[in-house]
Amino acid sequence: MFDDMAENELPAGLVALMDTVDSTPEIDLKRVGEAAAMAFHDAIQNASNSTDRSKQQQDFMLGVSNLGHCKQYALLMMRQTPFSDVRDKTAAFFGTVAGAAIEAQLKIDHPGWLFQQDLFFPLPSGGGTDAHPDIIIPFSVQEPEKGFYQGILDGKSKAELETIKKVGPTQQQIYQVHAYAKAAIEAGLLNPDHPIVVGDVFFDRSGKDVIPYSVMHLYTEDVITFIDEWVNDVKYALVHNEDASRDMPREWCWSYCEYATACRGGDTDVEGLLESPDIIAAVDLWAEVKELKAEAKRKEAAYKRTLDGVTGSTGTYNIRWTEVGPVETKASIRSGYRKLQITKVPRK
Ligand code: SF4
Repeated sequence: MFDDMAENELPAGLVALMDTVDSTPEIDLKRVGEAAAMAFHDAIQNASNSTDRSKQQQDFMLGVSNLGHCKQYALLMMRQTPFSDVRDKTAAFFGTVAGAAIEAQLKIDHPGWLFQQDLFFPLPSGGGTDAHPDIIIPFSVQEPEKGFYQGILDGKSKAELETIKKVGPTQQQIYQVHAYAKAAIEAGLLNPDHPIVVGDVFFDRSGKDVIPYSVMHLYTEDVITFIDEWVNDVKYALVHNEDASRDMPREWCWSYCEYATACRGGDTDVEGLLESPDIIAAVDLWAEVKELKAEAKRKEAAYKRTLDGVTGSTGTYNIRWTEVGPVETKASIRSGYRKLQITKVPRK
């Protein structure tokens, strides 16, 4: 029913028929189409807002996935500060849906593995949080000869895999799988006297990169000590009524964080109100051009995906793919230059 349309060239007769039928003045098909699109969009947002993790966040409960991310975010959660910004959940939704479907099949393929177990991650200095690891390979079912050691596998969806291959997992991702392993050790599912392997399996939700990319580590208690110190820093800020460290770059915050306005609203490093109409017009046009360039880049990437592997002629354009071999370039030093930065003033 929702299959991708690989081919959308319609026969001329059908196009003429649809043009005639669709020209009815009684129903505004554009409005109907917009209503349908928004119904899907709202369904995605509502479905995302009713997941267990989302409810946990709405109840201001810190989860394992908050550890190692941003201390100020964790502090605001602990203070039960209401979110100041609404974020679109579409990408997370597709990741969750795809992750659940993959897990359903893994359950069949690996009946001994454990999925979404209800565990508790205890912090060495006291307290802790609930933990629900995607996959535990228990000590009792590990198959080292096949590469399946006892440990934790966490599935992560990505829009593409090139970036993660280049930069590797974040501190938050390393903390998360270690916390899950600690919780599974406490539950007697993993045996700390033998090697425990923890890691993330990143899959490309666009379907372009068909082989997921995984990063594995050997479990070490040292990471649990790091997590404990991280949480103690947040607790210190809470008890002393101070701010905690803002660990994410401002640009990231304004794009993704639900606390951007509450946390970064007063941030600015520029002074002086610009009032000259020429300057204001130039800035507005510059921002417009930048957005058009970004839009053109997004479209170019999307059309390139559609044309992947396609060769032939449309009559107007010839399409072919050629392999460009790697070229070693000599290291060089780029000259310094003045960079223009124009960013939107955040609205409180
Ligand atoms: S806005 Fe940025 S710095 Fe502030 S809580 Fe969110 S992620 Fe952390």
